[in-house]
Amino acid sequence: MIEFKNVEKYYGHFHALKNINLEIKRGETVVLIGPSGSGKSTLIRAINGLEPIQQGQLIVNGFDLHDPSTDINKIRKRVGMVFQHFNLYNNKSVLENVMLAPRIVNHVPEEENERYALELLERVGLKEKAGSMPSMLSGGQKQRVAIARSLAMRPLALLFDEPTSALDPEMIGDVLRIIQEITSDSDMTSLIVTHEMNFAQKVANRVIFMSDGEILEDSQTSEFFKQPKNERAQKFIDQVKNH
Ligand code: ADP
Repeated sequence: MIEFKNVEKYYGHFHALKNINLEIKRGETVVLIGPSGSGKSTLIRAINGLEPIQQGQLIVNGFDLHDPSTDINKIRKRVGMVFQHFNLYNNKSVLENVMLAPRIVNHVPEEENERYALELLERVGLKEKAGSMPSMLSGGQKQRVAIARSLAMRPLALLFDEPTSALDPEMIGDVLRIIQEITSDSDMTSLIVTHEMNFAQKVANRVIFMSDGEILEDSQTSEFFKQPKNERAQKFIDQVKNH
């Protein structure tokens, strides 16, 4: 589903992704962890073309992103992103937020679009908020709407960029539970950047540890949390545990 081959990414002179090689298969749920500034967000943003890469190959659903003839919008249609700060349309109702992209991008008939949007809102526990404006919702509720909105495009893959780090602690659990539900009962591919280690342990079948723009470890979740192979990963886990 997603393949990085010798990918290099620079912000000006700053080397943000260093020789990234990574293959993620359909249906996998992969968690990306590591210290702040290690390139996690850059890596997942590259997957739907939000960050261009300078070298190497990045293949998503069969399309080579570094190839100028690739239409990035075709990839974005099938690869959704859930951001830290929700990015809802604040002047549109919750239901409209969920229905907008399927209507405009996929031309889904109105009735079918609404039915599916309401079904998704029910799945994230917010059907009764369909008519509300985003400003009436808590952060956790906004993030659940953002998740429903991404699912409305029937994505092959969903990228989560620290989906709970802007939330109050009491809101985090509900959002994590929903992410766990949607990633476990489908063949959707998910890549999640998170600092929530308990959640990472429960949700992922694979853990990738990054530091300074490099992937230092790529392990099965149970092995990783029993004992990371990489020394820096071990240190990171110890720090998070003692925090
Ligand atoms: P993480 O998600 O692991 O916290 P990021 O991918 O956000 O890391 O950032 C990796 C590095 O790239 C950081 O040092 C950050 O300062 C730098 N960086 C991120 N975005 C930009 C940008 N738009 N311009 C310049 N540097 C950036």
